[in-house]
Amino acid sequence: MSLRFVIIGGGPAGTQAATSAARLGADVTLIERDIVGGAAHLWDCVPSKAMIATGGRLDTIEDSNGMGLRVTDASVDLEAVRERIARITDRLEHHNRTLLESQGVALVRGTGRLLDDHTVVATTEAGELTFEADAIMVSTGSRPRIPDWASPDGDRVLTTRDSYPPKVLPEHVIVIGSGVTGVEFVHMFSSFGCRVTLIVSRQQVLPTKDPEVAAVLEEDFLQRGVRLYKGARAIGIEHTEGGVSVRCDDGRVAEGTHCVLAIGSIPNTEGIGLAEAGVAMDGPWVADLDHHLRTNVAHIYAAGDISGKLPLSSVATMQGRKIAEHVMGLHKVDHRHLDYEKAASAIFTDPEIADVGLAEADAFAEGRKVRVTKVPFASSAKALINDDPRGFVKIISDPATGVILGGSIVGPQAAELIAVLAVAVTNGLRVSDIAESIFVHPALAEALTDAAE
Ligand SMILES: Cc1cc2nc3c(=O)[nH]c(=O)nc-3n(C[C@H](O)[C@H](O)[C@H](O)COP(=O)(O)OP(=O)(O)OC[C@H]3O[C@@H](n4cnc5c(N)ncnc54)[C@H](O)[C@@H]3O)c2cc1C
Repeated sequence: MSLRFVIIGGGPAGTQAATSAARLGADVTLIERDIVGGAAHLWDCVPSKAMIATGGRLDTIEDSNGMGLRVTDASVDLEAVRERIARITDRLEHHNRTLLESQGVALVRGTGRLLDDHTVVATTEAGELTFEADAIMVSTGSRPRIPDWASPDGDRVLTTRDSYPPKVLPEHVIVIGSGVTGVEFVHMFSSFGCRVTLIVSRQQVLPTKDPEVAAVLEEDFLQRGVRLYKGARAIGIEHTEGGVSVRCDDGRVAEGTHCVLAIGSIPNTEGIGLAEAGVAMDGPWVADLDHHLRTNVAHIYAAGDISGKLPLSSVATMQGRKIAEHVMGLHKVDHRHLDYEKAASAIFTDPEIADVGLAEADAFAEGRKVRVTKVPFASSAKALINDDPRGFVKIISDPATGVILGGSIVGPQAAELIAVLAVAVTNGLRVSDIAESIFVHPALAEALTDAAE
């Protein structure tokens, strides 16, 4: 009999684990209460980037004078934007379902819960279904964190889930939170022509990022007329005649027509029987995951946002794959641990920001000797042809061996270009490996070979 593997939650972690394990011969059941593809496709990655792509087209139209064009007005059809996002989500879900079905995965539409450490129950429209499992993976994702001083209503006070797209385009939106989601909101709403105020709890947007990188983004925000309330924490939201006002702990009050909360997520771990199955918890988080993402109950795994590691769809996908391989014993043959330090990530602002591996500021803080080479896109033929020479490529390497330890890219298509550095960092490539590769000309990627020289 094949190994019985039951997965609760069909986001990136769940769908990947299901296809990988089925391909390796497991008897897989995937329980999903909503859409296959998860919050990533329904609420988060996909709708947010689809909105940003539409806003980006608007920006491009407005900037086209520099390309020798005379372009007349463009306007937003919010209903068409909504339909476009729904179409993308439907196509992705269709693709995922077809893939899972072709691998023989049993898809169950329902809400899953552990009854004990070997039994999972799915509550479906047709009633309760019970599954016995040799291995179980929980990948139920996360939802927006709502502080006790805020009551989102979907009209004036929004969460990320009300915003792609919102019911109406705000005249003036106050974004609370200046992490990745917050700055992407600022970029998106300002591309759509909304006035934006950003509440920044520290003195720098993207407080965990390289200050040089954050500075480029702040410059863009100032050019777009975004108001920054730095060093201020939101502590209350009141409804006013014209919209909302957001009170900050330093006494300042921001007035706008709408506000949106972008202050993190909390894991979906309540009510799914983790305690009943004997899984140790640390508040809402699963405690003590080992490097195979096993909980203290060795055949129960936790993946994706609930693992409390890097909350990225790309990381969730890789975790799902690694778990499937572990469940099927493949790690005994060939296994590389998932190294979160080497995960590339990107921020879809304009310019885009992407990085991987060691950051210059962290190397400096650790007193570590590194070689830093930086090439501005202003020297790139392709950037000039594209009429967008903003940003730079920065490569951090070991001065003794030339091994690439990390890098940052700020500029158009940074999220694509960082792939080259991600391969280098993951595989211990040296700067000479990049410098001696012949890239296409003219291409933005040439800045990478220049920085690697
Ligand atoms: C606004 C926003 C934008 C983002 N953009 C990006 C991005 O551009 N790139 C990136 O890499 N990451 C991005 N992320 C992060 C990314 O969305 C998450 O890291 C990713 O979705 C986590 O995947 P997951 O598999 O843990 O679960 P999720 O995608 O959260 O899916 C979990 C699934 O479990 C289901 N579920 C929950 N409970 C049950 C239950 N009891 N029974 C059955 N099913 C259940 C849910 O319906 C859901 O489908 C973004 C996040 C946000 C908030």
